[in-house]
Amino acid sequence: MAAELLDGKRLAEEELDGLRDRVDALKKRGVTPGLAVVLVGDDPASQTYVRNKGKACEKAGVYSRTIILPADTRQSHLEKLIDELNRDPEIDGILVQLPLPVGLDEQRILARISPEKDADGFHVLNAGKLLTGQATVLPCTPKGVIAMLKAANVPIEGKHAVVVGRSNIVGKPAALLLLRENATVTICHSKTPDLASMTRQADILVAAVGRANVITADMIKPSAAVVDVGINRVNGRLVGDVDFERAFKVAGWISPVPGGVGRMTVAMLIDNVVELAAARRGRA
Ligand code: NDP
Repeated sequence: MAAELLDGKRLAEEELDGLRDRVDALKKRGVTPGLAVVLVGDDPASQTYVRNKGKACEKAGVYSRTIILPADTRQSHLEKLIDELNRDPEIDGILVQLPLPVGLDEQRILARISPEKDADGFHVLNAGKLLTGQATVLPCTPKGVIAMLKAANVPIEGKHAVVVGRSNIVGKPAALLLLRENATVTICHSKTPDLASMTRQADILVAAVGRANVITADMIKPSAAVVDVGINRVNGRLVGDVDFERAFKVAGWISPVPGGVGRMTVAMLIDNVVELAAARRGRA
C-alpha cells in the first residue's frame, strides 16, 4: 500500500488563486493588502524564503516591499524601522525573517511589531490569544499543516496527534491547533526518552525537528498521516525529517519535502496578510 500524497504545492496554488479573488474584492474597495518583509544579513536560505514570499504576493495581487539590511544592523535601527512600518498605512503585515544575526534580540523585535500587523503570528499577544482560544492571526506553518490535513479529509477529532518539536514557531502552535481540532496531543522533544514508542501511537505525526531521517518507517503507525515540516540539506539535496521513500509505504498520507509544508507556509502568510488588511481596513 502506498500513502496518499499531501501535495502542498498544488494546494498552495489553489489557496493563492482563491486569495487573488479576495484581494480583487478588497481592491475594488480601495484596499490593496501590503506586506513588508525585513531581511537582516545575507543568509542564502533566508534570501530564498524572502524571494518566494515576494513571488507569492505577486501571484495573489498583494503589494510587497522587501527591506534588506546589513548583518551588523543595530537593534535600535531595526526597532525604528519596525515603528515606521507599524505607522505605514500601505503596510498590513510585517514579517521579520528569522533567524536574526547574533546580537539582535529576536523576542524584542517580534514584540515591537504591532499585533495588528503581525503577519507571522509570532507576537506574544497573538501567541497568548491562540493559547487561550481567542480568534487571532495564526503562525503560518502550523496553519498550513492543519489546512493540508483538512484538504485531504484526514480525520483529526478524537485522533492521537504526536508533534515532534516544541519550538514557539512550529511545534507548540501546531500542538495547540491540533488540540483546537479536538485531537489528543502529545508533544515530544530532544529529552523524550523513547521517541519511537511515542510516534508509533500517532494517528497524525507532525515532524518539526530539523534533522534528516529522525523519523524512520518503523516509527510510523500503519495508515497514519505524516506531516513533515523539517527542512534539511543533505549533500546539496533538500529533505525533510522523515525517511520519505520508506515511510511512503507505511503511512496513509504523507507530505513531501520539497513541495509540502513549505509551500503551504507561504500561502498561509499571504492569507494572514489579506486577513489583517480586511480586519484593519474593512472587509470586502
Ligand atoms: P527548532 O530548532 O527551534 O526546534 C526543533 C525542535 O526539535 C526542538 O523542540 C528540539 O527539542 C526538537 N528535537 C531536536 N532533536 C530532537 C530529537 N533527536 N528527537 C526529538 N526532538 C528533537 O526548529 P523549528 O521548530 O524552528 O524548525 C523545525 C524544522 O522545521 C527545521 O528543519 C526548520 O527548518 C523547519 N521549518 C520549516 C518551515 C516550513 O515552512 N516548512 C517553517 C519553519 C521551520 P528541544 O526543545 O528539547 O531542544
